[in-house]
Amino acid sequence: MTSPSSAPRVTLVTGGGRGIGAAICRRLAREGHAVVVGFRSDATAAESIVAEISDGGGRALAVRVDVTDPASLDAFVAAGERLGPITGVVANAGAATAVGTLADNDPAAIRADLDVNLFGVIATVRAALARMDAGGAVVTISSAAATLGSPGSYVHYAAAKAGVEAFTVGLSKEVATRGIRVNAVAPGTIWTEFHQDPERPAKVAPTVPMGRAGEPDEIAGAVAWLLSDDASYATGAVLRVAGGL
Ligand code: NDP
Repeated sequence: MTSPSSAPRVTLVTGGGRGIGAAICRRLAREGHAVVVGFRSDATAAESIVAEISDGGGRALAVRVDVTDPASLDAFVAAGERLGPITGVVANAGAATAVGTLADNDPAAIRADLDVNLFGVIATVRAALARMDAGGAVVTISSAAATLGSPGSYVHYAAAKAGVEAFTVGLSKEVATRGIRVNAVAPGTIWTEFHQDPERPAKVAPTVPMGRAGEPDEIAGAVAWLLSDDASYATGAVLRVAGGL
């Protein structure tokens, strides 16, 4: 069996500068991964994650990337290889800029959200896979929205995340014989700056069986597990981490 942890692990994380992505970067660094912290606009946030990891004795690099641009993704992967051969990728970057009912949301904003949340994930994984060998692992970040549908908030975003899950399942089968595993994590509502209404996690808490929104670290642990040898027989899984939603 190929063991990814027997060799240095180098993992790309898009949207790694803040929110769930930052928690993933910190957690992976603690588990011995060299981490490529992808950021689109917030270089300061990404550099501070890199500094934190370096101060803790880990290896990390901040690299600008726009996941909607395949050329930018190729450059991101190539820059990441400065840390060593790529062994993993977390397609985490996402956004919901069009918020409201379908009727109220502007088609151009809907298209932009689909671009980031669906095409962006597919293009990220495609670029990384081209450089990954047997033993590699891919994690996509979906959402509980993929099955709940998010009526009144962003049904188009939920549709994109459902697409991410179908992509994850299909690709897992496509690359299984290459020795590469592909899984998804589907978070529930998490305390990050993702929400246009910053108090949304508190507002949805009463609808969550566990009675609260989640923390980014609670997602990072699931991602780290899927990238680890402990998950060596897991592929095509969607791991829901949503407080019972
Ligand atoms: P944040 O808004 O806190 O962070 C989003 C990250 O995505 C930022 O780092 C941002 O980079 C990056 N990003 C956005 N667009 C692009 C792009 N075009 N190219 C590259 N990077 C981009 O959100 P979260 O941390 O909450 O979200 C992370 C993932 O988790 C997303 O996929 C989201 O859909 C998913 N999710 C979040 C939930 C939540 O309740 N928070 C629930 C379920 C799923 P930069 O800062 O540099 O602009």
